Amino acid sequence: MGTDIISPVRVRFAPSPTGHLHIGSFRTALFNWLFARHHGGTFLLRIEDTDLERSKSEYTDSIMAALEWVDLQPDETVMIQSERLQEHKRVLQELLSSGNAYKCFCTQDEIAERSNNSTFISYDGLCRTADQSQSAPYVVRFKLPEIDSVSFDDLIRGTITVPIGQLDDFIIARTDGTPTYNFVVVVDDAAMKITQVIRGEDHISNTPKQILLYQALGYRVPQFAHIPLILGPSGERLSKRDGATSALAYKELGYLPDALVNYLVRLGWAHGNQEIFSREQLVEFFTLDAVGKKGSIFDIEKLNWINGMYIREHSSKELLDYIAKELDAEFAQRLSGWSDAQKEAAIDLYKERAHTLIELVKEVTLFHDGPQTYQESDIQKWTDTSTKEYINALIAMIENEKPDTIDALKGAVKSLTKTLGIKFVALAQPMRIALIGSSAGPGVFEMFELVGREKAIERLKRLRDTLQ
Ligand code: GLU
Repeated sequence: MGTDIISPVRVRFAPSPTGHLHIGSFRTALFNWLFARHHGGTFLLRIEDTDLERSKSEYTDSIMAALEWVDLQPDETVMIQSERLQEHKRVLQELLSSGNAYKCFCTQDEIAERSNNSTFISYDGLCRTADQSQSAPYVVRFKLPEIDSVSFDDLIRGTITVPIGQLDDFIIARTDGTPTYNFVVVVDDAAMKITQVIRGEDHISNTPKQILLYQALGYRVPQFAHIPLILGPSGERLSKRDGATSALAYKELGYLPDALVNYLVRLGWAHGNQEIFSREQLVEFFTLDAVGKKGSIFDIEKLNWINGMYIREHSSKELLDYIAKELDAEFAQRLSGWSDAQKEAAIDLYKERAHTLIELVKEVTLFHDGPQTYQESDIQKWTDTSTKEYINALIAMIENEKPDTIDALKGAVKSLTKTLGIKFVALAQPMRIALIGSSAGPGVFEMFELVGREKAIERLKRLRDTLQ
């Protein structure tokens, strides 16, 4: 696109703590962070908690926890917007004094009555000339300048021009004296010396108003970039109906932070056909002109695929440490009787198949504990009236020959099936069912070896005894 980036870069993520960190906002944070790192700039965090009724400190905590989980730490002290009320009021006064804002005493009903257009109730500017010293309740309005339009070069969408006729003298402070979002955001972004405002496209209609405020206050106007929304499968904005929307929920569901980061960056940004990126590569390659203009559909299957790749990239030891720290502190203890090497070997077996760490924990636990029940459809499919007899022959063979390697066991089972005149699967699948309750799982001989001969025989006997 060719627009020069104002530098040194200072960007910010400015969440409102009125809920847990939405996955879309989380991606906004990520884009800001990557942009800052790519340009050797500064990434800042501002908590926009001026809506005192809806803001909650527990949400601030959970937003911070989500950012910490993926290691997106602000480079300077976090700005808390509500602590700056005095400064906001001071600047408001400045605008009133310079004549760029005025007190408006009109009630909503009066405005609606005067406005013939019922869809867009715009303010007609009546109080621009009203006596400003009245004692009636008032809001403060920004006085639109005498210009035709407001224009800006969005770093993602190109030039956006809004005719001034689409705006009105908008409210910058309410009747109770509290300044509105559009006003405080400008005052704070200027105070933080923000050079690029990178945020969701739902804010696009605020930008012209904010630009006018920057100009009226004599501040340098930052560059803007509006990121397309994340959509649900229906094509509407991703909502709770479509599954988890909070970033931290993905931690609880067993996604690795780097996998979620990788997935979310790719959702709306591309670098050739590459799918898997290290954090360093993302920093190196990330630019806003490679961010698409259209919304992207959240695809849990793809996230699962990427998460699986990341799970496999980590050693079992690393996964165990991560699980203990972030997901399930008792997991390793629950694998009682197993040495560290056995625990790691079990994770190695299952990590090849797992999409999430929760799946991994569940399957390894089941593998360790042995099945409580057997998958009915597998029993139907893989056992018949002769299976009991085959299992007895298998147990006898194992007790006799004591095969002590995976290959020896495999060879022995193969020759037993030949002797019995049955297919290999007619014995291998019941073995699997005996070990883990179903026919779907890792290699049966690997599992057998890990469980140990004695326990494996117990499990075989248990299955045998339940068969007709
Ligand atoms: N606090 C606003 C939000 O959470 C963001 C404001 C901005 O980025 O300018 O949507």
